[in-house]
Amino acid sequence: MNTPNAEIVVDVAAIRHNVRRLREWVGPDVQMMTVVKGDGYGHGMLDAARAAVAAGADWLGVATYDEALTLRAHGYTGRLLCWLGVPGQDVVPLVDADVDVTAYSVAELDVIRAAAREAGVPARVQLKIDTGLSRGGATAADWPGLVAAAREAEVAGEVRVTGIWSHLVASDDPGHPANDLQEKAFLDALAIADAAGLQPEVRHLANSAAAVLRPSMRFDLVRCGIASYGLDPAPGVTPAELDLVPAMTARAHLAMVKRIEAGAGVSYGHLWVADAPTTLGLVPAGYADGVPRHGSNVLEIAVAGERHPLRGRVCMDQVVIDLGPESSARAGDLAVLFGPGSQGEPTATEWAEACGTINYEIVTRIGGRFARTVV
Ligand code: PLP
Repeated sequence: MNTPNAEIVVDVAAIRHNVRRLREWVGPDVQMMTVVKGDGYGHGMLDAARAAVAAGADWLGVATYDEALTLRAHGYTGRLLCWLGVPGQDVVPLVDADVDVTAYSVAELDVIRAAAREAGVPARVQLKIDTGLSRGGATAADWPGLVAAAREAEVAGEVRVTGIWSHLVASDDPGHPANDLQEKAFLDALAIADAAGLQPEVRHLANSAAAVLRPSMRFDLVRCGIASYGLDPAPGVTPAELDLVPAMTARAHLAMVKRIEAGAGVSYGHLWVADAPTTLGLVPAGYADGVPRHGSNVLEIAVAGERHPLRGRVCMDQVVIDLGPESSARAGDLAVLFGPGSQGEPTATEWAEACGTINYEIVTRIGGRFARTVV
């Protein structure tokens, strides 16, 4: 088999650095969960997990049951929270594997209780309160019922309520009114749980942005995803400012370089037409690899430290960049789609801004057929 047309280079030392840096930021009294769902935000879940643990992450966080069991299957024995099961999935392997499973409702708690009885050990359960995101979690109205059922299950020896948590609406916008409302709603939910006799080990609300920007939201633990990978956790809060290092570089070798004359249209639909002779470079990565089609005519890609505009539409397997009339670039030269930005290349955040999306989407989607190299 040949080498793939393009590659993602993952700098695990950067992930280690970022996790340490975030730890320093929140202080020794707050536990650090590194979120490694979504294949470690596209960086590779197992490599990201190893780096985070080596840097002292106390917990790993994932969405799906499969992600949790994959971490266990590869030898991760530390604390592990998982938050998005669906009805019909088997919870017994998670209970057996000591995974903290999130319950949003009494119905979900009942499934976990049954799994614990089958496993013959108490399940570790974290209760999630919906403080305003209106996604997963018990509403304020359903919270007392969930708390009571959890306490009953604890007394019956079927579960141990290890945590209570919620997720934020607009942590990347510190002035958004939802922040105060959610913090207050979370405190109210904790008071109800406390009155019912629950004594969770960890209460947590903050993702990366809140961990960095809003100390009052740190509680016992922060769940850091994006900042662990060195990317801006909020608009205008840059990695440089936080001393974080972006861990992913996406790059490819130019498949072809050629001259075109004025008037030549480029790529499907001729969205761009050259008004003067120029040199085009063919970059072998397209939307099947996660290059956003919204990046047509707007993205930039660097060759030899200089950024060049992407011309015309992003295709499934390739894009075309304008190397300029005097270019000496040649087929085989390295093209950096995005990276830390330290050598002239755009960052994932710049790509996201150009395409009207977020850096999360850029890094989690890039790489369909790319090789992944860990350095
Ligand atoms: N907590 C939960 C429940 C999440 O879904 C996520 C990611 O979306 C995170 C924490 C981490 O968020 P961030 O990547 O903004 O730090």
